Amino acid sequence: MQIIDGKAVAAKLRGEIKQQVAKLGSQPGLAVVLVGNDPASEVYVRNKLKACEEVGMKSFLVRLEADSSFQKVANAIGQLNANADVHGIIVQLPLPKHLDENALIDLISPEKDVDGCTALQKGRLWTGRDSLVACTPYGVMELLKHYDISLEGKRAVVIGRSNLVGKPLAQLLMNANCTVTVCHSRTRDLGEITRSADIVCVAIGKAKFLKADMVKEGAMVVDVGMDRDENGKLCGDVDFAEVAPKCSFITPVPGGVGPMTVTMLIKNTLNAYIACFKQK
Ligand code: NAP
Repeated sequence: MQIIDGKAVAAKLRGEIKQQVAKLGSQPGLAVVLVGNDPASEVYVRNKLKACEEVGMKSFLVRLEADSSFQKVANAIGQLNANADVHGIIVQLPLPKHLDENALIDLISPEKDVDGCTALQKGRLWTGRDSLVACTPYGVMELLKHYDISLEGKRAVVIGRSNLVGKPLAQLLMNANCTVTVCHSRTRDLGEITRSADIVCVAIGKAKFLKADMVKEGAMVVDVGMDRDENGKLCGDVDFAEVAPKCSFITPVPGGVGPMTVTMLIKNTLNAYIACFKQK
């Protein structure tokens, strides 16, 4: 069994991005729109801004009050779309309940959509074309690539069908020639399905949900979850202690998929910057 070291892969990728940025004529810029002051979002945003700084990119934080109107948030996105120093825009989710998340996200210029969440970028991914891919699933694929894990013809099961993680991950695995099954909260006989999988990816937000009797011997397990256990300690959706001994490869939490997400955000920002100059 091999434990996948997401921290090391992320550090390597960030080093490469930093070198690439240093060779550019100007700085790529990432803008984050934060509406309200949800404590978890504050931490995620801080990490994103810090990552930009570390690799020599510019970052912009647009803070808006929790009770901001749709129009106010839309105007902020419009200004960032028009700002030539900004190559990537991310609207930190979740947004306050009164705001229409999908409608606001679709206002981001697709070429600056570095979390691959606009309908256009998703459509490009769905149709197998080059696209800016949602950072977490993109990070999962980079991890698999880094460890030279062959995907061709493998049976993959993705548990979770969110727009940000489960669905794009399933699509990426399918684009990589896996045979993919997507499961969710209404799936019947989940264990039967996961036991048939060569690769099980779990993204549901339920601490230690995947147990040893749900995976076959030698399976590869990717844990996207970021949960708290009964003692308040960070853990994933996989019961690591039980499941790891049965696996060929497994991603731990912390230190697996997590460090890759912000790394892929800065990678997407660099890609958006490069594409922007190719167009000119
Ligand atoms: P989400 O939007 O809440 O979606 C959860 C998905 O899990 C839904 O599709 C839901 O099914 C499914 N689900 C819930 N309970 C289930 C069950 N008992 N059996 C089977 N499926 C079940 O969550 P998300 O945004 O995708 O995030 C999932 C997890 O990944 C969370 O722990 C989150 O913190 C973590 N995450 C980590 C990163 C990272 O950087 N590592 C990034 C993003 C998210 P229905 O569709 O039927 O409701």
